[in-house]
Amino acid sequence: MSQRTLTIVKPDAIAKGVAGQIIARFEQAGFRILAAKLIHMTHEQAADFYAVHKSRPFFRSLCAFMTQGPCLAMVLEADDAIARLRELMGATDPAKAAPGTIRKDFASSIEANAVHGSDSAESAAFEIPYFFNGLEILPR
Ligand code: ATP
Ligand code: MG
Repeated sequence: MSQRTLTIVKPDAIAKGVAGQIIARFEQAGFRILAAKLIHMTHEQAADFYAVHKSRPFFRSLCAFMTQGPCLAMVLEADDAIARLRELMGATDPAKAAPGTIRKDFASSIEANAVHGSDSAESAAFEIPYFFNGLEILPR
């Protein structure tokens, strides 16, 4: 069934100049791009986005990383988009990511790991409207 997910090309990947290559991976895998926006998040915006991690030891560092430069938020659509994007991204830690995944090829560390992807339908339902209003998302 067709499903939507939220991805973020993170600040490390934008700074490295590999956003285009990452977008190409999404396109080659058959995702349709329904919305895209460059945003340089404030600390508060990053903290609210990653609120589920607020008690984790890496939370402050994660928020600092996500606000160090602009990132590219996108809404992607495909059959089984949430699970398929997570597979295409690879493991959180690039050292553990499978060959051919985005994180294996473009991530620098477990923190600066190039991309975000919603991890469940509930997450996508929070994350998509966090960045995009209805008028900014193509109907198909
Ligand atoms: P994302 O939510 O960004 O798609 P994920 O679902 O693979 O990544 P989470 O466990 O949700 O991983 O962690 C969110 C983000 O926090 C990671 O992508 C990474 O940037 C950072 N992070 C996770 N674990 C660590 C860690 N042990 N040390 C430093 N940063 C971490
Ligand atoms: Mg996550």
